[in-house]
Amino acid sequence: MTERFGVVGGGIVGVAIARALALEHGKTVTVVEKEGRLAEHQTGRNSGVVHAGLYYAPGTLKARLCAEGRAMTRDFCVDHNLPYREVGKLVVATRPEEIGALDRIEARSIDNKVPGLRRLRAEEIGDVEPHAVGVAALHSPHTAVVDYVAITEALAQELREHGGSILFNHEVIGIRETGGKVELRTPQQTLEFDRVIVCGGLQSDVLAQQAGASPSPKILPFRGEYRSLVASRHNLVRGMIYPVPDSDFPFLGVHFTRSVYDEVHIGPNAVPALAREGYLWRTISAKDIWESMRWPGAGALARRHWAMGAKEISASLIKPLYFREAQRFIPELTLSDVGGKTAAGVRAQAWDQTGALLDDFALDQIGSVTLLRNAPSPAATSAMAIARHVIKHHVLTH
Ligand SMILES: Cc1cc2nc3c(=O)[nH]c(=O)nc-3n(C[C@H](O)[C@H](O)[C@H](O)COP(=O)(O)OP(=O)(O)OC[C@H]3O[C@@H](n4cnc5c(N)ncnc54)[C@H](O)[C@@H]3O)c2cc1C
Repeated sequence: MTERFGVVGGGIVGVAIARALALEHGKTVTVVEKEGRLAEHQTGRNSGVVHAGLYYAPGTLKARLCAEGRAMTRDFCVDHNLPYREVGKLVVATRPEEIGALDRIEARSIDNKVPGLRRLRAEEIGDVEPHAVGVAALHSPHTAVVDYVAITEALAQELREHGGSILFNHEVIGIRETGGKVELRTPQQTLEFDRVIVCGGLQSDVLAQQAGASPSPKILPFRGEYRSLVASRHNLVRGMIYPVPDSDFPFLGVHFTRSVYDEVHIGPNAVPALAREGYLWRTISAKDIWESMRWPGAGALARRHWAMGAKEISASLIKPLYFREAQRFIPELTLSDVGGKTAAGVRAQAWDQTGALLDDFALDQIGSVTLLRNAPSPAATSAMAIARHVIKHHVLTH
C-alpha cells in the first residue's frame, strides 16, 4: 500500500513540503490547516522580500537554504508567470558607529556569495536611491519582491494536480503515534498517516508538545507593524532601504519596501505580541502572556533586551517616534508622508530556556513525526529549499 503523508500547516513551508513530496516523490499527501484558507498567518503578512542572504552566519541552514530558496523562488515565479521584481536593496549606515556592523555584514555577504553585492560610499548612495542618505551602504541588486500568498496558492495548485489534498478548518488538537501510524486528532475526525510533518508557525511549540517533544524551544510572538507611505510620495523609494540591524536581535529593523504591486511600506517594527496571533495591541491572550512570563528564560531575555523593547513599544504607540527612525534614511520625509498602520504580522520566533532567541532554522524528529520548530525570516524565501532539505534529511530517512 502507498504510504500516506500528512502535513500540518498551510503556510508556504507546509505547502512547499507537501508539493515536493507529491510532485518529486510521488507520495500521497494531505495538508491539514486550521484556517479557512492558505497563508493566513506569517506567509500572508510579511514584507514580501526574497532575501539574497546578506546577514546569515556562513554555514548555517539559513545561509544555505536562503541562497538555494532564492534561486528556486525566482525560477518558480518565472515558470508560473508570477510577479518577481528585483528592485534591489540598500543597507544604509547613517552613523559612523554603524560602520563596524556594516563591515561584518559585508564580510558575511561575501562568504555567502550574495550576487552582485557592492559597497557604496556616502556620495554613491544617491545613484541607487536618490532620496536616501548615509555614511556608507551595501547594495544588493538581486534582492527581490514577490507575492508570497500567490506563490503558496500556485504551490497548492500543483499539489492538487499531483493527487494531494488540503483540508481546511481542521485544527490539529492531538498527535499520537500508535501501531506504526501517526494519528492527527481534529474536532471533526481523526486522520491517520504513515508520516507527518508539522509546520505550524506560531503554534509550532504547542504542536511539538502534542507529539511528545520537549517544550523547548518555545515560540515567542513578536508583532511587526507596517505603515504606508502616502501614494504621492512613493517616488522617495525605488526599491528597498534597510537599516544596519542590531546584531543582538534577530530582526532586520524598520525598512522601506516597494512591494511587487508598487505600494511603499514602512516597517515592520518588533514589539511583543500579547497573543500568538495578536495582530493588534488589543488582541490579548492571558494564557500566552502567562506562559511566556513563567518561561525559565524570561528574566534573562528581559534583562538583555529591555532597552530595545522599550524603544520599539514607544515607536509603535507614538507615530512621531516611528517617523523619526524612518527619517534618518530619507531626510525629505515629513510626518504627513507616513500614513497610519496598515497591516501587521506576528513572527514565530523560538527561544530557549536560557532566554536566547534561536537564530537558525530548527527541526526535531519524534518517531515518524518531523517538527519544524523555528522557521522565521527568511523562511518564506527559503521555503522550497527547506522542503528539499526536510524531505531528504528527515522525512525519507527516519
Ligand atoms: C512581519 C513579518 C515580515 C516578514 N518578512 C519576510 C520577508 O520579507 N521575507 C521572508 O523570507 N520571510 C519573511 N518573514 C518570515 C516568513 O513570513 C515566515 O518565515 C514564513 O511565512 C513561515 O512559513 P510557515 O509556513 O512556517 O508559517 P505560517 O505561514 O505561519 O503557517 C503556519 C500555518 O500553520 C497553521 N496551523 C497552526 N496551528 C495549527 C493546528 N493546530 N492545526 C492546523 N493548522 C495549524 C496556521 O494556521 C498557518 O496557516 C516575515 C515574517 C513576518 C511576521
